[in-house]
Amino acid sequence: MPTIAELHEGYTQKTLRPSEVVEKTISQIDSQDETVQAFLSVFEDDMRAHAKDLDTKQDRNEPFGLLEGIPVSVKDAILVKDKPTTAGSQILSSYTAVYDATVIHNLKQAGALIVGKTNLDEFAMGSSTENSAFQETRNPADTSRVPGGSSGGSAASVAADMCPASLGSDTGGSIRQPAAFCGVTGLKPTYGRVSRSGLVAMASSLDQIGPLTHTSLDAAYVLQGIEGADTLDATSTSLSSRQELNIDEIQNGDIAGLRIGIPQEYFGDGLSSEVQAALESVIESFGEMNTVIKDISLSTTEYAIPAYYVLMPAEVSSNLARYDGIRYGQSRFEEASSLQEIYTKSRASGFGEEVKRRIMLGTYVLSGGYYDAYYAQARHMQTHVRKDFTNAFKDVDVILTPTTPHTAFQAGSKADPLSMYLEDIFTVAVNLSGNPALSIPANPNDSTLPIGFQLIGNHFDEQTLLTLGHVWDRYIRQ
Ligand code: GLN
Repeated sequence: MPTIAELHEGYTQKTLRPSEVVEKTISQIDSQDETVQAFLSVFEDDMRAHAKDLDTKQDRNEPFGLLEGIPVSVKDAILVKDKPTTAGSQILSSYTAVYDATVIHNLKQAGALIVGKTNLDEFAMGSSTENSAFQETRNPADTSRVPGGSSGGSAASVAADMCPASLGSDTGGSIRQPAAFCGVTGLKPTYGRVSRSGLVAMASSLDQIGPLTHTSLDAAYVLQGIEGADTLDATSTSLSSRQELNIDEIQNGDIAGLRIGIPQEYFGDGLSSEVQAALESVIESFGEMNTVIKDISLSTTEYAIPAYYVLMPAEVSSNLARYDGIRYGQSRFEEASSLQEIYTKSRASGFGEEVKRRIMLGTYVLSGGYYDAYYAQARHMQTHVRKDFTNAFKDVDVILTPTTPHTAFQAGSKADPLSMYLEDIFTVAVNLSGNPALSIPANPNDSTLPIGFQLIGNHFDEQTLLTLGHVWDRYIRQ
């Protein structure tokens, strides 16, 4: 499957026809998805009908927008009107969305083809996509391994060439970690850059929707298509002209003099030797491209995971209170003899083990007598993590780290929740601070397992991340 840029070029030059691209998409899903299991639903009829209109448009020589006719898969935590949205949970197994998420509205306006909904860990809680109520997604690079998570279905759908782009969501790393494991590009935008309206909430102050694609340039196209202030999300922000993406400048790729910070805390014990070696070679290559490599310190790094695993469940416990067996999805009211029992029976049968664990943790850290000891402390730490980044960006333009400590692990190998939580060690800090971060394939030409490196930017400076990413893509793929 070509990239977005190549598809657009093909439509414009008339070397590609929308309906042919749709048929290829469908046949690739037919041949790959039996083993990869990335999709929970595929919208073949809608895609075919849409492609027919686009064929006509092409015949009339009308110009194609950048995302027009581009197949995009969507994590099943994002609402697409009149389609099932399960969030990977039994409790929403029969739920059909009644409106489009703002990002979907924007993609439809831009003429993108919505391919289908991709699998995820239940309510986006997890790092392996084994934690879905419906199926386990596997890594296309090695199907005995996990694709990462929670946007594992999205990452796998792009990696297995079933579509050139996908939308995922990232609360603690769920776009970047699966991108790294599957060998694709994944961007968590700055908090507030993309509307969360229509995203099934996990932890609202940390959640962001972002693209998974083959290249940084494609990530820029999708970001530009979905971003912007939205009256339906009070935390979404309108962009100043300085913050807007400039695609021409990304393509020009001027990175001379850019200061790249290397935080020592991300390169210590626990980093596997293969990831370490790949990162050293990335840093060396950037060093040879006239950038300035600087050693820096982010001293709060070790506190990011503990703070996240207090703040996130606190918000989870509050957000998931809406699944009461009355307003949404699955209900056990027939078996209940009181209102209380409707709640308890519906929730007990509808939620999986990990979701229940987090709801309990969340209510605990928010309860009287424990609030100050846990929640308030974690908020305090969050302020320090933010300050750490603010200080770092006084001296550097971008920060480079590994995305994950190791390559994709074997399916079924992490039974203990704590070891799964540690997967987020390099990704959660930016969710706490709101900064944007991009995971880029470090070794796309190797036959070994994919490795990702992460670029962290100043707030709303996706431009620098994507420019560096584009320069890297050109360099490594030439
Ligand atoms: N793996 C992390 C968690 O389970 C991140 C999840 C996410 O970003 N949605 O909380």
